[in-house]
Amino acid sequence: MIKFLDLYKVNNLHRVEIDEAIKRVLDSGWYLLGKEVEAFEKEFAEFCGTKYCIGVANGLDALTLIFRAYKELGKLKENDEVIVPANTYIASILSVTANNLKPILVEPDLKTYLIDPKEVEKAITTKTKAILPVHLYGRLCDMETINSIAKKYNLIVVEDSAQAHGAIRNDIKAGAFGNASGFSFYPGKNLGCLGDGGCVTTSDEELANAIKALHNYGSHKKYHNIYKGVNSRLDEIQAAVLRVKLKYLDKENQKRREIAKYFCENIKNPLITLPLLGDKDEIWHVFPVRVKNRDIFQKYLTDNDIQTIIHYPIPPHKQQAYKEWNNLSFPITEQIHNEIISLPISQVMTNEEAKQLVRVVNEYKE
Ligand SMILES: *Cc1c(COP(=O)(O)O)cnc(C)c1O
Repeated sequence: MIKFLDLYKVNNLHRVEIDEAIKRVLDSGWYLLGKEVEAFEKEFAEFCGTKYCIGVANGLDALTLIFRAYKELGKLKENDEVIVPANTYIASILSVTANNLKPILVEPDLKTYLIDPKEVEKAITTKTKAILPVHLYGRLCDMETINSIAKKYNLIVVEDSAQAHGAIRNDIKAGAFGNASGFSFYPGKNLGCLGDGGCVTTSDEELANAIKALHNYGSHKKYHNIYKGVNSRLDEIQAAVLRVKLKYLDKENQKRREIAKYFCENIKNPLITLPLLGDKDEIWHVFPVRVKNRDIFQKYLTDNDIQTIIHYPIPPHKQQAYKEWNNLSFPITEQIHNEIISLPISQVMTNEEAKQLVRVVNEYKE
């Protein structure tokens, strides 16, 4: 059986170092906002090329706290419009509505599955104040164009980098293109911890300071509260584990790139639409393909011992949570949600498994 993602194997690659890291925290007697988080924040900011990194409890909180901080700083206010890709994971959009800001959904490009800058520009109104590009599936959005649109209309750019740790283009890494970025360290992400975790990266000192207070009850100094904050912190244990795994992230992303290249060059089934083969701007968080009769294809793969996952079966505008959008129509987004399916890919996939996957996919008939 080829698992979609074998998390035991993913972490077992670094078993000795992870065990040591956990023991170090246990022995220290200090479990929150200590040396490990401080060191990880410094190391991850350096890795991304930003001045600041603030550890938080998860990726959704990272994004939510960025928008919240902009509101506290007077740079955003309720009902301001934020442009988001219609085909993103729901968490991107939840971070906007949690702050009573208004998400404006725009279609992605069918070739890259990423927000289409032409659609972004069309959606701009006098109320537009921010753009939330999502580096979906591990591929970087066209940040050069998005940033130039943002500059032209004076908009804030918040990157959702929850699927793009380490993706790089023109020497700039995910998390360093926009004004701020949210990352998730959910176990299945390319950089994942052993539970929930997340962080914000930014080079804006004022924003970083606001988030540092907001994520810790709204205080910089114990018992002095300047905001009505929340409790959203990265644990010392998770930070210690992430410090181990960060050292191997580039190498592991490279392994995924090699497998993706092998798939793109060897899957030759006309029924399957492959993703574009990216360069270093693609870390292959998942390997998405499109197929017309997806349920039949998925069952065929299951019958042949290959586990797959659909990212995602229902677009945000068709969710019950966003009833107010249920009548909207986004044909490209809907086509993607009807046809997309993610094949297994990971740093622990063996050559044998990759070969077997290619053979099974190539033998698929309708
Ligand atoms: C995982 C993910 C999130 C949310 O991260 P959590 O840590 O699960 O809260 C946000 N956006 C995208 C695109 C994601 O994939």
